[in-house]
Amino acid sequence: MLMTMTAISEAFAATYSAARAKFLAAAAERGFAAEHHVNSAGRGAEGEELASDTAILGSSDAPALVVVTSAMHGVEGFCGSGCQVALLRDEAFLAAAKKSGVAVLFHHAVNPWGFSWLRRTNENNVDLNRNFRDFAAQPAHSARDDAYAGIHALMVPVEWPPAAENRAALAALVAARGRPAIQAAVSSGQSVRPDGLFYAGNAPEWSNRVLRDVLRRHGSRRRRLAWIDIHTGLGPWGHGEKIFCGPNDPAMIARTRACFGADVTSYYDGSSASAELSGVAWQAALDECSRAEFTGIGLEFGTLPFEETLAALRADQWLANHPHAERAMHDSIKAGMRSAFHDDSEAWQAMVYGQARVATLQALHALSG
Ligand SMILES: [Zn+2]
Repeated sequence: MLMTMTAISEAFAATYSAARAKFLAAAAERGFAAEHHVNSAGRGAEGEELASDTAILGSSDAPALVVVTSAMHGVEGFCGSGCQVALLRDEAFLAAAKKSGVAVLFHHAVNPWGFSWLRRTNENNVDLNRNFRDFAAQPAHSARDDAYAGIHALMVPVEWPPAAENRAALAALVAARGRPAIQAAVSSGQSVRPDGLFYAGNAPEWSNRVLRDVLRRHGSRRRRLAWIDIHTGLGPWGHGEKIFCGPNDPAMIARTRACFGADVTSYYDGSSASAELSGVAWQAALDECSRAEFTGIGLEFGTLPFEETLAALRADQWLANHPHAERAMHDSIKAGMRSAFHDDSEAWQAMVYGQARVATLQALHALSG
């Protein structure tokens, strides 16, 4: 039986701790094997334990594995977690997974700290989806670093809300260089401002190490591996953009489109709403499961217009740099983050779940052949 919109909505949660409880309960109810990886960086916003949890369906001997991840970007986890819990409660999906012979791994809350504290980044202000890089091989300074350093002061001003001069200067910059160039300078991943936006870090973060460990233990013996990494905050409201995950390899892009549809986009050819990124998490699957044929997408669901999402991120970075800000300012910025990366309406949740479900079924179908 198909789930009603209300049943779908009930899979989504208001806080990280409630999301974790729903995920663990849904996995336990079905008897799926679960693992818990506790983050020792500290407690959550409600004093709770912070952990990445996994649940695995199917056999460890299955030749193929579909991985579904949530909260790579902390606060975006409300969406991915809701989709994971809804899939775990979805009789028709579970029957299809069993019939396919493909194993499914749900990795809940890749970045539990950001999920709980309503930040896109982790406990060290690192954007995890820029952190999967070879730090030893990377140059001390890159063009991406220069591009970000040139606009950091405008993006994260000393006062919030930004003064009129800041708003005028930013508008003039966008008019002069175009939004795509500014988006690329902000979001590609930078290594020079630990107090800035889209900071890549300087070593593999805890979540990076946990994810690699999970992939190695559950994925390295498989012949085929598909990965759906659920994100929010970019693109039209409720629309799931399927962003190709992998190196600029035409054969891999073709395989990804054969699996998930011709509407898979790629930042290598400009068809994606995303700028070209560096240090993206798919690198972990290639490194840790090198024998498996890899097919992956970032499933990116739209919430608010780009300018509003960016303003929420700028405000949140200002807040992180000014931890003694007034309570009212703190609460307003956190409410802004919540609504920039999740929509609590039943309509939005049903839209995103429908698309996440289709993508997961597509992966099962492609990998079972
Ligand atoms: Zn994201």
